[in-house]
Amino acid sequence: SICQSSRLSVVSPCSLYCVFSRNMASHIVGYPRIGPKRELKFALESFWDGKSSAKDLQKVAADLRSSIWKQMADAEIKYIPSNTFSYYDQVLDTTAMLGAVPMRYGWTGGEIGFDTYFSMARGNVSVPAMEMTKWFDTNYHFIVPELGPDTKFTYSSHKAVSEYKEAKALGIDTVPVLIGPVSYLLLSKPAKGVEKSFSLLSLLGKVLAVYKEVIAELKATGASWIQFDEPTLVLDLDSHQLQAFTEAYTELQSSLVGLNVLIESYFADVPAETYKTITSLNCISGFGFDFVRGTKTLDLIKSGFPSGKYLFAGVVDGRNVWANDLDSSLSALKELEAIVGKDLLVVSTSCSLMHTAVDLINETKLDSEIKSWLAFAAQKVVEVNVLAKSLARGLDEGDMLITNGFFVNSNAAQDSRKSSPRVTNEEVQKAAAALKGSDHRRATAVSARLDAQQKKLNLPILPTTTTGSFPQTLDLRRVRREYKANKISEDDYVDAIKEEINKVVKLQEELDIDVLVHGEPERNDMVEYFGEQLSGFAFTGNGWVQSYGSRCVKPPIIYGDVSRPKAMTVFWSSMAQSMTSRPMKAMLTGPVTILNWSFVRNDQPRSETCYQIALAIRKEVENLEAAGIQIIQIDEAALREGLPLRKSEQAYYLDWAVRSFRITNCRVKDATQIHTHMCYSNFNDIIHSIIDMDADVITLENSRSDEKLLSVFREGVKYRAGIGPGVYDIHSPRIPSTEEIVDRINKMLAVLKADILWVNPDCGLKTRKYAEVKPALANMVSAAKLLRKEL
Ligand code: GLN
Ligand code: ZN
Repeated sequence: SICQSSRLSVVSPCSLYCVFSRNMASHIVGYPRIGPKRELKFALESFWDGKSSAKDLQKVAADLRSSIWKQMADAEIKYIPSNTFSYYDQVLDTTAMLGAVPMRYGWTGGEIGFDTYFSMARGNVSVPAMEMTKWFDTNYHFIVPELGPDTKFTYSSHKAVSEYKEAKALGIDTVPVLIGPVSYLLLSKPAKGVEKSFSLLSLLGKVLAVYKEVIAELKATGASWIQFDEPTLVLDLDSHQLQAFTEAYTELQSSLVGLNVLIESYFADVPAETYKTITSLNCISGFGFDFVRGTKTLDLIKSGFPSGKYLFAGVVDGRNVWANDLDSSLSALKELEAIVGKDLLVVSTSCSLMHTAVDLINETKLDSEIKSWLAFAAQKVVEVNVLAKSLARGLDEGDMLITNGFFVNSNAAQDSRKSSPRVTNEEVQKAAAALKGSDHRRATAVSARLDAQQKKLNLPILPTTTTGSFPQTLDLRRVRREYKANKISEDDYVDAIKEEINKVVKLQEELDIDVLVHGEPERNDMVEYFGEQLSGFAFTGNGWVQSYGSRCVKPPIIYGDVSRPKAMTVFWSSMAQSMTSRPMKAMLTGPVTILNWSFVRNDQPRSETCYQIALAIRKEVENLEAAGIQIIQIDEAALREGLPLRKSEQAYYLDWAVRSFRITNCRVKDATQIHTHMCYSNFNDIIHSIIDMDADVITLENSRSDEKLLSVFREGVKYRAGIGPGVYDIHSPRIPSTEEIVDRINKMLAVLKADILWVNPDCGLKTRKYAEVKPALANMVSAAKLLRKEL
């Protein structure tokens, strides 16, 4: 039906409830831009490949934006965001807005186009890309701004204004969203060659000058609200950093006259001190807080909230896929309303919905019970509105009926989750509970274990190995796909994989590698492979979440108690071991990594779920050992990623994470060697936890930050277990020379004893080609052999 919006004098299509929109205050922090079926990904990649034009790409983008805006307007959302679309990354968009393009891209001014923009994002033939890093504790990655005293800031991308206008032309008045100036600077890094003493915050004045221009233009186009995302507010800030917020928004005050200003924070509660500072800023009209991850937010508000200001209460989880418990949200909202006042409470999402899946409607394979427990971005928009309506007064009968219907369904879903036998497995609950308080350490200290292992393994000094996967060829992917689609028989599949393993084993023997791997040809993904064989996991068809640029991930959903019905890897590992007389290392994904790369249930603490996964992996470890496997690697690629944002919460996380890892292998024999592998280069702050994992050997991704890792050991951290800091970068097609690898190992030998050092690449080889892998590994082995002679 078509009806007149109360806010705009234009006709817009919306649902039958819009007569009541005056009463309803609902807001969405941000929305996924990749599209319900990854339309943006495919459009981007086709454009990058030269298969389609810039116009084609722009058309796909504009269609996505308009459908998102219309969807929110239809759902009667009052504060609809704009400028949350991005061709690559919202931080890079801000860099473009500010014209802060690093010199090497040769940009000479004017509005920044695709050429410069994508060169910064992805590099081009002559210049590498800018650095990318994790966006807080999410799996999204942003392009890190590179700034120095000479960086010139000029208003060079009018994207925020043009998106605002674009929505307006569709009859939708939006809230333009900008990354706040202080968070932008705090997330930047000093450009190469800039002195260490340089303070990024010293650029605040110059950056604000551009923000003022943007604000002025948005005002002139008719915007009545503006949203500044300042997620760094949730971090541990020093007084200097905190002061920058006061300075920035005081400086912007006169430009902001006539606009309502929302400062949005997310991913945690803001520290009490920060809360005080930020809520006493005069020119701000509303504050957005995360009530899901921010477990202390409710108490903060109770401790005081400035009168006459709006509270944007993020009660609908933007980081997960669970349907909201509407009843419990509503009672929290009522509590808040009593504090802030009835017209000043706005129902919102905990953060941008870009961190959850897009639309449940496209899930055809999930059964209806599980579906009733879920809400993706599109469904969360509706939840926000239902909550807002329930708070509103003066609903008519029809409207009440509809709202009540949602509550009835929500309660039914919550009840069925609580009582479903698919969720609760008494045996698993008991086993996990029994773990409490018991010791999860191996019986013997690491040095004695290493001796026992060496007696059996008889490895040379500086043993060589790899971290698990070998190149995944197109043929291999096809075989797996056809098997999954029942197009080839189980026997044919097993034969094909067996042949591949045999090839990889023979190659490693030819290369004279000491500890072999089977190459992981049967695995599509290191978490999905295990999730599919464990109970308590569900998989979506289209539950994609943007990881960076056009790259998306499809995390499994852990909905129930986790158990392992039968052995998962023993068949392949035993087969591989039977092909060689050298030790064959079995390969498992660790519990913390499985947890951190999944959507995790929200009805019990993450630690509980992690312990359950650990127990399942433990069974696998025991089966592998019983099958005669002597070395088992349990990857914890993502252990570092789960580290909480605030220092005060880190020790607790590390405690249960490390404990979970230890649970997987605490019962093996001394002579069974446990390896682990970790990605993500910055380990220095958690080195003691890594030691506490008590693995016999750890291989680490390191080649892009050698010095950093080694400095820890130089500074006297005692390390007695085996350690293999990657000797070359597997993310690049470049083939390292023997000399180069010798040099790197020598650097390691300067701080680590020869009898604990292992020689291996940085990470798995699955994304590389054999033409790169063969010579690189050959050089790695020769480097180890050369050094052995000298030792
Ligand atoms: N064993 C995995 C592999 O080699 C580890 C991958 C990872 O650490 N991301 O592919
Ligand atoms: Zn890795």
